[in-house]
Amino acid sequence: MDFFSEGALVRVVTCEPIERPLEYKAPEGGCRIGDFVIVPLGMRKVLGCVWDIGRGGFDLSKARSISMILDVPPMQEEMKLFLEKAAKYTITPLPLILRLATRAPGLMNPVSMKKVYRCGKSNDMKITASRQKVLSVFDEFQGLCFTLKELADLAGVSSSVIKGMLPFGAVLEQEAPRDLPFMPLDPDKLGKTLNSDQQEASQILKAKIQDKGYATTLLKGVTGSGKTEVYLEAVAACLKEGRQALVLLPEIALTSEFLDRVEERFGARPAEWHSGVSMTERRRVWKMVGTGGAQMVIGARSALFLPYQNLGLIVVDEEHDGSYKQEEGVFYSARDMAVLRASLCSASVVLASATPSLETWVNVEAGKYTRLDLKSRFGRAVMPDMQAIDMRGEKLPSNRFISNALVKEVEKRIDKQEQSLLFINRRGFAPVTICRACGHQVACDHCDTRMVEHRIHNYLMCHQCGETKPIPKICPSCKVEGKLAPVGPGVERLAQEAEQLFPDAKIAILSSDLFTTARALKQQIQKIASGDSDIVIGTQLVAKGHNFPNLTLVGVIDADLGLQGSDLRAAERSFQLIRQVAGRAGRAEKKGAAFLQTYQPEHPVVEAILSGDEEGFWKAEAQERKAAGVPPYGKMAGIILSGPELKDVMQVANHLARNTAPLRQNHIQIFGPAPAPIARVRGRHRVRFLIMCQRKAPLQAAIQNWARLVKLPSGIKLQIDIDPQSFW
Ligand code: ADP
Ligand code: ZN
Repeated sequence: MDFFSEGALVRVVTCEPIERPLEYKAPEGGCRIGDFVIVPLGMRKVLGCVWDIGRGGFDLSKARSISMILDVPPMQEEMKLFLEKAAKYTITPLPLILRLATRAPGLMNPVSMKKVYRCGKSNDMKITASRQKVLSVFDEFQGLCFTLKELADLAGVSSSVIKGMLPFGAVLEQEAPRDLPFMPLDPDKLGKTLNSDQQEASQILKAKIQDKGYATTLLKGVTGSGKTEVYLEAVAACLKEGRQALVLLPEIALTSEFLDRVEERFGARPAEWHSGVSMTERRRVWKMVGTGGAQMVIGARSALFLPYQNLGLIVVDEEHDGSYKQEEGVFYSARDMAVLRASLCSASVVLASATPSLETWVNVEAGKYTRLDLKSRFGRAVMPDMQAIDMRGEKLPSNRFISNALVKEVEKRIDKQEQSLLFINRRGFAPVTICRACGHQVACDHCDTRMVEHRIHNYLMCHQCGETKPIPKICPSCKVEGKLAPVGPGVERLAQEAEQLFPDAKIAILSSDLFTTARALKQQIQKIASGDSDIVIGTQLVAKGHNFPNLTLVGVIDADLGLQGSDLRAAERSFQLIRQVAGRAGRAEKKGAAFLQTYQPEHPVVEAILSGDEEGFWKAEAQERKAAGVPPYGKMAGIILSGPELKDVMQVANHLARNTAPLRQNHIQIFGPAPAPIARVRGRHRVRFLIMCQRKAPLQAAIQNWARLVKLPSGIKLQIDIDPQSFW
């Protein structure tokens, strides 16, 4: 009962922020549930999806008709269910979720055409070596057509060679829809020979995929243990079943290295979906995912919302990574949504990490997820030796950050022509600029934050809103000249210090703000990997999965940096980050060492990192969270109210604080309102509530009922963050 003949009333969800559902009459020829349609809305035409049967109850003579059904596959029932559940879980209106799922430009436009080239027949053409190369490509990819550039690239000839074959009919030029399928991936191509750990893990994953049921597996192994090799075997198994595979990566900069690996493994490149992909390519990916013309997608978190025809596997690489949580627009965790999506379409999930999140660890302990361990590094590489450098004994002058002990270690590596990495998780030159005359700290005009000096770009920058201003010569507060001084280290300042300490060494900085394009960043990474620099100074960008084979020393400049603060995951994050960074050392044949500079060597987290007793750390951390009733044992939500005037924001907040019955009735605790830790961002004042309850409590429904009690004045925004990862 999902076909509606002409004139029947249907409910359409559009991407417009409208509360009430919209009802339209089915167009000539009828429509089905799931059809993507264009509907009139006021004076405009907007994109929507036929969701349900119409309920009527209004003057039917006023009902308008669907203008047109788009020539794309209808949304599958399972995708509809996914969007509905995602909307409900995150307390987001369905239209906003549908918008996430249709974020490809030009879906409403008619299909545009382009020239493609395919194999023809010709007997009377002279076969030159170049022409033979073109013919060989047709042989290899029988039945396919290519753009001129694709064909030229694949054959390794110039486009004029191909054009020269046209008059003979050996190559045919035709018009085809602009959005072409991706080159087929060959899952039967032989992968690397796996070691026994890898073999066992990949067999188990394969079996789960052949079962065609839902399952989530944690694939745990130190960096370099071959997790990627193993999950590529799972991808192969999935492709063999004729199903699609999605691999989520936490960082766009990692994709190009990964694409190369996929190409090597399967003979062609998969589809790519992230903010760096062009608009036309995005539309192609969206359409091809929907028609099965893309077997595999590599993407950022929003790739979860593509209209897969038959999704069999989702890999979440570096599953613990904080960037999987989206914290604007729709607040969602891509890791958790991956599990939801897979459970609805009977797919497998692989969560890969060297340092899994506590959430995942607890789900394994509870028997919800399977755990597979890759115990050692591939080949002969082993985890580095780890040691603390007690900074209390170092007595460094206030403008120096690299301890003498670490200097000696770096020098040893330089002598041996090996690379060292000095890690600090702070972009820029110095986090604070202070006036030595009056103590004033230069702050952002729009946010409650200090401006960070970026000496390479020659400005101060707010890391909250991105605002920049020239580095002042005169103190903005006391007007004294020449007394402003940078305080504390950032990655640029560390590079400067290293230049002074090691004048003959080649030094490279790896920090996201120093590269305007992913390509420039990739080039820098490749240069470093090829051994071009002696010392790499990096931010957390280096923690994420790059291979630097000649790197044997890691120095963590401030191991205490992540330990402060009230974030409930501070210990977990420090543990993960430092272990990941330390794991950069000694990836290839040479054993590595890692040194942590710390003022608190006896801190339990620092001790846990040094001892390498991971399970011990997780158990202790789990126990603490359990005792406190916080995630993953309890549930949390953050409520952020913001607006241009503090008193208006507080008025709404106080009203909500006085009317908490919908929460209290359900034994849900509420804390606040309190000014957010960063109390003003982009000129908007921010006030937070924190909501906590037991896992089983009806959190979403209660919050919805509670939030309904207030009518928001214009300009005031209320954001709900279920399972918050940050608390600023
Ligand atoms: P991880 O994803 O755990 O960091 P990778 O899969 O990237 O590990 O493996 C690390 C390096 O070791 C890569 O260069 C990879 O190609 C290589 N490697 C891993 N397993 C094998 C194998 N069985 N045969 C050959 N090379 C391997
Ligand atoms: Zn700012």
